[in-house]
Amino acid sequence: MTFDFKKYIAAIPDFPEPGIIFRDVTPLMADGEAYAAATKEFVAYTKAQGGIDVVVGPESRGFIVGGPVAYELGIGFVPARKAGKLPRETVRQDYELEYGGINTLEMHADAIKPGQRVLITDDLLATGGTIEATVKLIEQLGGIVVGIAFLIELDDLHGRDKLTEYDIFSLMHY
Ligand code: AMP
Repeated sequence: MTFDFKKYIAAIPDFPEPGIIFRDVTPLMADGEAYAAATKEFVAYTKAQGGIDVVVGPESRGFIVGGPVAYELGIGFVPARKAGKLPRETVRQDYELEYGGINTLEMHADAIKPGQRVLITDDLLATGGTIEATVKLIEQLGGIVVGIAFLIELDDLHGRDKLTEYDIFSLMHY
């Protein structure tokens, strides 16, 4: 029997703005069985992609999703953080937000070694702006993105269209 992940996703209408249905993944994280089952799916996907050297996740839910995957695989985790949080030399990438405005992501300049094979994780694919910026940071450092794994993909927003060169795994679709 397949695990009913959608049972653990709360839908909040009109948050943070009218017209948006916010898909809240925190109930899934809060349930040990569901969190472990989701991690297991991500690990299976990652193994199928061939050798991965490092997991990268954007702040902040990408950390919660990616950390356990890296741990299970015995590899490292590298955060892509919002501007101004990382203390050493960084690379930076701006991107547009789904709800309007511009955000900036940064990674430490020495976080990825040229040629390293990278899995990206995040909770949700909406417009794809966040992950497109994350991909650019990794590639700027010489990393190779071999897979991108999400808990949720919002099909109507076509975020995938920004990421056509990459392999994408989504545990749930809305
Ligand atoms: P995007 O860059 O448009 O793909 O947006 C992705 C990020 O915004 C994800 O990491 C989510 O955390 C958050 N996000 C965007 N839309 C939603 C939504 N409808 N429900 C929950 N989180 C969202």
